[in-house]
Amino acid sequence: MRKIISIFAAASVAAIAVAAPALAADKGYVGIAMPTKGLDRWNKDGASMVEQFEAAGYKTDLQYAENEIPQQLSQIENMITKGVTVLVVAAIDGGSLTGPLANAGAAGIPVIAYDRLILNTPDVDYYATFDNYKVGVLQGNSLVEGLKARFPDVKPWNVELFGGSPDDNNAYFFYNGAMSVLQPLIDSGDIVIPSGQMGMDKIGTLNWSNAAAQARMDNLLSAYYTDKPLHGVYASNDDLAMGSISSLKGIGYGSGDMKMPIITGQDSNLPNVKAIIDGDQYSSIFKDTRKLAGVTVGMVEAIGEGKEPEVNDTSTYNNGEKDVPSYLLEPVIVTQDNWKQILVDDSGYYTMQQIEN
Ligand code: BGC
Repeated sequence: MRKIISIFAAASVAAIAVAAPALAADKGYVGIAMPTKGLDRWNKDGASMVEQFEAAGYKTDLQYAENEIPQQLSQIENMITKGVTVLVVAAIDGGSLTGPLANAGAAGIPVIAYDRLILNTPDVDYYATFDNYKVGVLQGNSLVEGLKARFPDVKPWNVELFGGSPDDNNAYFFYNGAMSVLQPLIDSGDIVIPSGQMGMDKIGTLNWSNAAAQARMDNLLSAYYTDKPLHGVYASNDDLAMGSISSLKGIGYGSGDMKMPIITGQDSNLPNVKAIIDGDQYSSIFKDTRKLAGVTVGMVEAIGEGKEPEVNDTSTYNNGEKDVPSYLLEPVIVTQDNWKQILVDDSGYYTMQQIEN
């Protein structure tokens, strides 16, 4: 940290020495490495960061890596070569960045892990994210609430689990949070998992792939559900929810007396919000990416001023090398009952026109 502050301090001393008025884009050069354009939230995260960093007087370099690990590695290397003064990284594979970040560390470039923790490196300074365990708890609770509401007379409920990408540290937090709610009901026999597939090693979905989730659901339905209905799906995000929905609809769920299972999600992607309105998906999670961008800009500003950025958690996120000081934002559950209030009226995250189109 001392190294970081001294580099920023040196930069500001230089600025005072030439007595130039502060120009926009003078405060630093921020490299922003995002995982993929494929999921809309990352487009929003990137756009919000560029907007907010530039408004605060920084130059930015925003790159997306199509979920390709080597591409993200070389983007980060290039950013360092181009002379960024700070790095903001949403890792594709949290454990793969040790090499490039060692170079960043050696060059005195502060690194902020964005949304996903960067693992196995001392060269990460802060972590800006949502309360990922709480995301899972909210998902688990809404699955149970939905099962009670849609299948009040059924016991046990047949449920299947779709976890996130095993190389994404968040995926474990979501799963563990959800299982803190679901495991007691599995133990009591209220919920059964007919496939027996549990644990991130069995239910993880590489790259959070919608297509992989659809294919796995196809297999589950034909192997375990020819003689009984599926009542619930723990889908860790909206992509996995969409894959499940396509598969289920393909064999007639959602029509006649085949009720759609209760399906969770995360991110409040537009197509998923529409699916919630239509009753195909039960819930999602709203994570206001504009606020996450705001926290990140605040961290960079503080570092630049030689101050400690504000954090609200210092012990949850150990990356294998150290506890990374973190700022956790609050996730919010979204259902058919509150989507308009949460996503349109209160936050303006979407306009009604976007939702109705
Ligand atoms: C994010 C989720 C997102 C997922 C897939 C996770 O790390 O926290 O919001 O749905 O990655 O991109």
